This record gives sequence, C-alpha cells and structure tokens, in this order.
Amino acid sequence: MHARPYNFSAGPALLPETVLREAAAEMLDWHGSGLGVMEMSHRGPEFGRILEAAESDLRMLLSIPPAFRVLFMQGGGLGQNAIVPLNLSRGGAIDVVVTGAWSAKSLKEAARYGDVRAVANTAASGHRSIPAPSGWAVRPDASYVHVCTNETIHGVEFHELPDLRALGCDAPLVIDCSSHVASRPIDWSRVGLAFAGAQKNIGPAGLTLVIVHESLLGHALPACPSVFDYAAVAEAKSMLNTPPTWGIYVAGLVFKWLLAQREGGLEGLAAVEARNIRKAALLYDAIDRSQLYVNDVDPAARSRMNVPFRLRDESLNARFLATASERGLVQLKGHKSVGGMRASIYNAMPVEGVLALVDHLRDFEARHG
Ligand SMILES: *Cc1c(COP(=O)(O)O)cnc(C)c1O
Repeated sequence: MHARPYNFSAGPALLPETVLREAAAEMLDWHGSGLGVMEMSHRGPEFGRILEAAESDLRMLLSIPPAFRVLFMQGGGLGQNAIVPLNLSRGGAIDVVVTGAWSAKSLKEAARYGDVRAVANTAASGHRSIPAPSGWAVRPDASYVHVCTNETIHGVEFHELPDLRALGCDAPLVIDCSSHVASRPIDWSRVGLAFAGAQKNIGPAGLTLVIVHESLLGHALPACPSVFDYAAVAEAKSMLNTPPTWGIYVAGLVFKWLLAQREGGLEGLAAVEARNIRKAALLYDAIDRSQLYVNDVDPAARSRMNVPFRLRDESLNARFLATASERGLVQLKGHKSVGGMRASIYNAMPVEGVLALVDHLRDFEARHG
C-alpha cells in the first residue's frame, strides 16, 4: 500500500505531498526568518514576498490578463454567493444558470440582493447535463450571469465557457470555479469574475480566490461591508485587514508545484490538464465497462474532478467502502444529497491513485458483482 492513503475527499481535499512536506519543513522557520508563516505580521517584508510570489505565480499559471485583479479573500465560496451580488448587482437583475446544488445555492443567496431569475435549470432531469447556452433566457438588463463551472456534488462540468455576447448579452459572466480552478485553462475573454474557495484544488480552507476584471470594481451596494468590497480589497492589495496568511502561503506552494508539472512534453497548466483528462478517462472507462457501477451524467458534461457513481446493488455500499478503505482508498462516500459514491480526483491525485481505485472497482465487482 502507498505510504499515505489515497484521499478522494471532495473538500477539504488532498494536497500535493511535496507541498505538505515543504510546509512542514518550513513550519518553525520560514527561509531563515526564525518565524513560522502563521506567526508573521502580514505587513512585514517576509509575508509581502510570499503574497507577491503567490499572485505572480497564479497569474503565470492561469495566464490572467493584466486587466484582471487577483484578490485573496475569506468567507469561502458560499460567502461569494453574497459578496458577488453585493458588488455587481446594483440591486438589479441577476441571471443564474442552475446545473446542480452549488448554483442552486447561489441563486437562493443572490435573491436577497436583487431580482433573481434561473435562466436555465436542470433540476427536473436530476442535474445530469449542461443546458445549451442558446436556450438560456438571459435578460438584456442582467447585471451579471452566474454559472458554476464544476458542480462538485453532481459531477457536471462546463467544458466550454458560454459566450454571452454571442447570445446578445453584454453582462459579465461570473463563474464559481471552486472545485476545478487550476485544473484547466480559463478563457478570460468570456469571464468577468471568477471565484474559488481554496480547499478543493489549491490549498487549505479559509482562503477564497477572486479574479475580477477591473471594470467591475467600484459599484458595491452601500450596505456592502468594506472587507467584502472588491474595489477596497483591490486598492489595499488584499491587505484591507489581515488576509488568510497561511492559506495564501500554502496556495503559493501549490502554484509553484503546478507550474513545475510536466507531462508528455507539456508544462505547467497544460501538463496538469492533460493528466486530469487521462485520470478522468481511466475512471469513467472503468465505470462504463462494468455491470455494477453507474455514472448518470451526460458524457459530454462529465466532470474531470468529481466523479459520482453508484452501485446497482446499493446493499453493497458499506462493504464497498470498507474494502476500499482496507486498500488505502478513503473518503469515497457520496454526498448525502445524492448518495452512492464520489471519487474526487483533483490536481494532487496521482495517476497511481486512480489506477488503485480502478483496480478496486474491478476486484470488488469480480467478488460481488
Ligand atoms: C465547496 C464549494 C462551495 C462552497 O465553498 P465554501 O468554502 O464551503 O463556502 C461553493 N461552490 C462550489 C462549486 C464548491 O465546490
């Protein structure tokens, strides 16, 4: 068995082992400063270097254009469900595409701040697909259009971002990319704002990344708290108050790790994406080839990061999980709202972890299928 178990948790989730070791080695003394990162003043020169490197590495990794500001915030993905409308809605129309549990939450929260409409909703069919943008009933006066580009619970992913201008809509697109950020490139020409809680794919809980086009700054509702006002946070370079220093530091290590990835002649994010495609194909193929396991998502919308599946014989669920755990494959239980299993195979999951899971699927089916 692998020294540590393979962790398929949806989040907080696994981190690259080399990053954990680096953080552990620097825990008591960061770069000879005599201080651990958690103990440093956020205003000191040491943390200043950490923050600057994290931002510039992220910009390089995701090819973020200069017109976008990078904000390191707190409050999680759920916090952004309120912070986005507080900043962008101006109290007006908010259009939301509902493709799963997370965008449904965004719709509900945004309703407190503006005139909200679900312009498409896949609830009736169980959130198993991405509705074609040509059918979205976007309003010409929408302040923004919200989509969750990877539904962590339902395992549904946008493999292409919608082009709102092609729909005759000038509103900015807001994407909740919490659970697949840095797993693939983002087409910034189609995005106004992207946000992501760190704890799925880039670091510890407590850090929320916001990448926002500068033209969207400065329109917060008067009731918006200053620490959640994007313009104020951008102006203060994420230092309006104490930022989540530890989270920024660990995410910074993850960004360096991602930039250093290599795969079949590819580097950085391209290498990471190629590996994610390979991992997802291995797992979906194993599920599709079996008689015991089922994934219900439209193949064109299947998530590369979160793979929900169920056993046709649900009475085997507990035994499946117990025998998986004996092999060092942990946190495979599905979300309580959908049941079954879920394997989250984020950036830090090695191909070997997916292969070990595929072996377990096959062995378990041979014994019990
Ligand atoms: C986990 C998750 C959230 C919520 O994140 P919190 O940090 O717990 O608030 C929001 N959106 C998506 C897509 C998520 O996966």
